[in-house]
Amino acid sequence: MEITPLGAIQPFQQVAKIQVRLCRIWKTKDQKDENEVKSIDCVMVDVQGTGIHATMEPKIKSFFMPKLIPGTIYEIQEIVAVRNRKFNIVVSHEAMLEFRRKTKVKAIQYDGPAMPLHFFNFIKYENIAASKDGQLKDVIGYLEGIQQVQRQSCNRNQIEDKMEFILLDDRKNKARVTLWASYARTFDQQTLEAQSHPIIVVFTSVKPTNFRGGIQHLQKKSLEELLLLNPNDNQNNHFICEATIVDIDTKPRWCYKACHTCYKKLDESTGAPVCPQHGIINGLPLPWYKIHCIVQDDVEQTTFILMGRTAEKALNITCYNLFYEQENSNPHVLPTVVSNLIGCQKLFQVRFGKPKLSSSRCDLIVTYIHDDFSQSPIALTLSSQSSLSQTLENTSKSFQTPSTPGTPYIEKKSSTKRKLAFQSGGEENPKTR
Ligand SMILES: [Zn+2]
Repeated sequence: MEITPLGAIQPFQQVAKIQVRLCRIWKTKDQKDENEVKSIDCVMVDVQGTGIHATMEPKIKSFFMPKLIPGTIYEIQEIVAVRNRKFNIVVSHEAMLEFRRKTKVKAIQYDGPAMPLHFFNFIKYENIAASKDGQLKDVIGYLEGIQQVQRQSCNRNQIEDKMEFILLDDRKNKARVTLWASYARTFDQQTLEAQSHPIIVVFTSVKPTNFRGGIQHLQKKSLEELLLLNPNDNQNNHFICEATIVDIDTKPRWCYKACHTCYKKLDESTGAPVCPQHGIINGLPLPWYKIHCIVQDDVEQTTFILMGRTAEKALNITCYNLFYEQENSNPHVLPTVVSNLIGCQKLFQVRFGKPKLSSSRCDLIVTYIHDDFSQSPIALTLSSQSSLSQTLENTSKSFQTPSTPGTPYIEKKSSTKRKLAFQSGGEENPKTR
């Protein structure tokens, strides 16, 4: 039986045999009911580099789902080609494929010419606004900033949770990606924040929209205004604040010994260091930055806590390096690279730490240090009904198949660069925003 190239598939035919790599797979949910799955969708690519969108009804998913693992190469027989959608097109192709009950799926040992690992339709940031061709787009960029979940009206009379990501391309153009509703609520931000910088993210099947507002609604506050806010009402908000680091408090340690997995402070009271979550630590504890920066603007002074990866990014050196390799092992004596922060004027993005039982004050934690906020971003937005993948791209087995939508899939690319990719699916009837 001949293998049909994906590029040769026409709508309204039964395709006898294809050989493809499954790039990504996700559940498309019902617009009105987040819990109801309308279809299972995937993107496949063949050896010629042609991509195609394939779909199956939920009622036959149990038949195929256990077999379908992203990254795997399959031989698929008796799959049906139908006409591709007119709107929210996932892959530009005249046809899309439908799994039927009689469809046969078999993972194969493939030894032919290299088959692409991914299939994306990346959009250039400068083309985002102009893109009105009914196609969903994929976008890649450096993660510049995140705005945590907040409530906002997404449609007439409807308030929804949303979460925004600011991406930069290689020419420093900005794009903003918005997750709505359950995708915003279930996104695992902690895993993301714990990654080494720079973080490269891929959003797939997002819908370009016109931009409303601007980056300014990451509200800019003076220190005085910031200190007047009730932390309990603002646990999910980030603020932009321009200030100068005038000193660093050395009474608290500039770093602490942390768990390699969760970065929580280790308890050494009983001898061997123990993580409250992961138990006894094998090997050296991980030194982790926690720098108490005294910051000042024209009117006020307060303390910002610069921690973990954010501090590594600001200092351009890992805490591990500074502590062990450059032998700055006294946590009360500032290494030069840390004390050099004194005098720096920065645009800080900060959030409130968790409320403390012992005090009415909350820590102010730096989440990003921005260089330039003057340029208005271009927008790329997901509608509230888009679905995120349950089974994400999978080229590395170690982080395979997160179980909740929006869980980032992380692929370790090198010691300094990691890639994060997650998936949103095509929705049938987008709301107009
Ligand atoms: Zn731990």
